[in-house]
Amino acid sequence: MPFQNLLVPCLFVLCLIYSITPTQASPTLSVAVSIKPVHSLVAALMEGAGKPSLIVKGNRSPHNYSFRPSDARILNQADLIIWTGPALELFLKKPILALAKKSQTIMLVKKTNTDPHLWLSPILAAAIVDQVLPELIKIDPNQAGIYNSNADKLKNRLKALLVNGQKKLNQMKDIPFLVYHDAWSHFATAFGLNISGAISLKPERSPGAKRISEIRKLVMTSGTRCLFKEPQFDSPLVVTVLQGHDDVLILGLDPLGATLDPGPGLYFRLMEDNISAVASCG
Ligand SMILES: [Zn+2]
Repeated sequence: MPFQNLLVPCLFVLCLIYSITPTQASPTLSVAVSIKPVHSLVAALMEGAGKPSLIVKGNRSPHNYSFRPSDARILNQADLIIWTGPALELFLKKPILALAKKSQTIMLVKKTNTDPHLWLSPILAAAIVDQVLPELIKIDPNQAGIYNSNADKLKNRLKALLVNGQKKLNQMKDIPFLVYHDAWSHFATAFGLNISGAISLKPERSPGAKRISEIRKLVMTSGTRCLFKEPQFDSPLVVTVLQGHDDVLILGLDPLGATLDPGPGLYFRLMEDNISAVASCG
């Protein structure tokens, strides 16, 4: 949108915010984020100004998450809600629609036919930062300096993560490997990897006998060297898929940070762990 077209709505929103906000920054600015890695990026962006709340905690998966009354309370209190969208977080669709007029919401993935696991690419993680930053500043303009400075630092770290990851994974560019669910396309693009397939194409339910047989054929024909299981999903299935393929190494990847404590450091720890895990297949 051209700048002049943005100016009028922006000025309107700023006037509106000034008319309803006390002169001091509200200490109760409440931001809710759906999943750990995106929460971590937002926590880093808000560091020194506030702390966002997290909805999907522990080792739960957003694909089959059940919305709880405590989640409704978090959403009800939020000035800003950040979620990826219904492709990954169907459980949030209805509650967010019900709240639509009460809080600002940012839906990170608008297309339905794309891999919604954006954050697994540092390039797309920087795009998330760019998407969230102006909305934070709009709601909490008094802390714009903190948000801008945090965004610069965060984007520099993301650039370094990309460059270091690409170096570390250079040896993996021609080595095919399998992943548990279809979450790693942006990770593969960012780091130049060769994923031969995913066991589960519909993570909301366990793959059936037909899918398992397809994957067993793929393991045979693709020269797959490793299979990565994920902590949010069933591991016995990995053993079934690999029966008779003792040469395929079973390793772990985690798109969400099952065992990591939420906070600004989680994202980089998660990505570095995943980069190291894939590098260990080479
Ligand atoms: Zn997923």
